[in-house]
This record gives sequence, structure tokens and C-alpha cells, in this order.
Amino acid sequence: MPIYQFKCLVCELEFEQLTTLENKDKVVCPHCGSKEVKDVFSAFATKSSCAPSSSNFT
Ligand SMILES: [Zn+2]
Repeated sequence: MPIYQFKCLVCELEFEQLTTLENKDKVVCPHCGSKEVKDVFSAFATKSSCAPSSSNFT
């Protein structure tokens, strides 16, 4: 399960949450409980053109 980084649009808290693509819409801010969060991919999550093949992705 991947960790996504979110930012609350209400209190501007940035937080990370383990979730699935499906449940990303259901993530709420742990600080104010707002559903107005958007997922942000931080700077280090850049696409690599030479990513190793994921052989253990079963
Ligand atoms: Zn918030």
C-alpha cells in the first residue's frame, strides 16, 4: 500500500497517509477533519526514465 502525501486546503496541514487509489477520495485531514484535501506528490517523487523492472510485483 503506497504512502500518499496530502495537503489540507483548510488548515494547510501536510500529512502522509497510507491509502489506496480507491480510498484517496475518502482521506480526511487528521488535524481539522476536513475532506478538502488534495494529494500532492512531493518533489522527490519524480518519474525516473530508467526505473528498474519490478519483478516482485505480484
Ligand atoms: Zn485540515
